[in-house]
Amino acid sequence: MEGAFLTNEIIVVGAGMVGSAMALAAAKLDYKVILLDPQTLMDKAFPSATNVEQFDTRVSALTASSQQLLRSLSGSMDVLQAAQPYRKMDVWDSRGSGRILFDADEIYAEQLGLITENRQLLQQLHKSILSHSQIDFLQTKVKQIRSLPNCIEVTTTEGGSIKADCLFGTDGANSITRKCLNLPTREWDYGQQAIVATVNTSRPHKGVAYQRFLASGPLAFLPLKDSNNTGHFSSIVWSLDVAKHQEISALQKIDFLKILGSTSEFKLGEILDCSQRYSFPLRQRHAKQYVAERSALLGDAAHTIHPLAGQGVNLGFADVKVMQDELHRAKQRGLNPGNREVLNRYQRRRLPANLAMMAAMEGFKQGFGSDAKLLTWIRNQGLNLTDKLLPVKKQVIRQTMGF
Ligand SMILES: Cc1cc2nc3c(=O)[nH]c(=O)nc-3n(C[C@H](O)[C@H](O)[C@H](O)COP(=O)(O)OP(=O)(O)OC[C@H]3O[C@@H](n4cnc5c(N)ncnc54)[C@H](O)[C@@H]3O)c2cc1C
Repeated sequence: MEGAFLTNEIIVVGAGMVGSAMALAAAKLDYKVILLDPQTLMDKAFPSATNVEQFDTRVSALTASSQQLLRSLSGSMDVLQAAQPYRKMDVWDSRGSGRILFDADEIYAEQLGLITENRQLLQQLHKSILSHSQIDFLQTKVKQIRSLPNCIEVTTTEGGSIKADCLFGTDGANSITRKCLNLPTREWDYGQQAIVATVNTSRPHKGVAYQRFLASGPLAFLPLKDSNNTGHFSSIVWSLDVAKHQEISALQKIDFLKILGSTSEFKLGEILDCSQRYSFPLRQRHAKQYVAERSALLGDAAHTIHPLAGQGVNLGFADVKVMQDELHRAKQRGLNPGNREVLNRYQRRRLPANLAMMAAMEGFKQGFGSDAKLLTWIRNQGLNLTDKLLPVKKQVIRQTMGF
């Protein structure tokens, strides 16, 4: 395979949600792209789920701006039609009377966002990639990356080499691209683990997402589509301090269902059933620089944040949108996509924005993790006041919708 793909202009390392979107965004501008991932692309659609075990436990709450990008990349994004819209989000503090209700009606929008199973979205992106003549896919793992005078070169674990003008690293939180490019990170543990699962509840969610802040971490219920009238399904993300996580994750299913019901204050009634539970350690990680010679990081390879506001993949899609803008601008000006000026403009637009979102999440996490009386009072007053001040609330809603 030596030299087999020398005609590529762009290499994308990692075909997750962000890398797949990036490959399509570059191909849409007529760049020749090669996409690399050790996993195969998914070409078959998943049937609609009828019980808790059949849903993907990983879901994403897509903001309006992510939806816009995805629709522009693939004209027929069926998955967005099949996703569950949520019109309201009910957020409350377990210690006090603080509560805020975000409602799409308040900003004259149809929805605050769409909840999609990750695998459904990924399958749809992969389907578009497989039918795109500008994108080649190679099932392989990247081992080494080096910058040569006129190109960038990737070596795969099988020993093959691929060259291109430019490389985008979208290979997730433990990015090999980031390591090969010597891009250091600032990172720390939140000291929490998240339990994710799908649940069936005795009451319907009616398109409302719930988030309860507890001293040990937030518990979120995200509404899922019930296309067959077989239950009332939601996806849960329960972030817990390590000691509490050990205790909760060790519970037998029947006890877990009970404690989940009482912790959610039975907003959706009894929890009738839950799928297998998975746990993820939560870690904040941010690359100090996103760009190196002929290369840039996007998505989780550049930044991972606490899932409490469901912004993770949305930040990655915002990276893709800005990179697409900059590639478009480069094309108009006759610049190579690996031109440092092009990549630096991407970094200038995305790094401060991602940092601001990460700082906000950190503030939330610290503020809601404290039991101190004064902080609890300020927090509750803040929630109630924001709920009453419509202009401020509208601004918060627009911000979380990605505008
Ligand atoms: C518990 C939890 C809940 C979350 N909930 C939400 C939510 O509600 N909303 C939201 O927006 N975000 C959420 N997130 C975050 C979201 O899942 C991530 O931001 C998103 O999956 C990142 O996508 P990505 O494409 O950047 O990376 P990934 O999904 O990690 O994809 C990376 C890809 O790179 C490939 N790869 C890895 N190594 C190599 C290599 N050496 N060579 C080639 N390819 C390679 C992998 O196979 C993979 O396909 C959550 C995260 C967690 C942990």
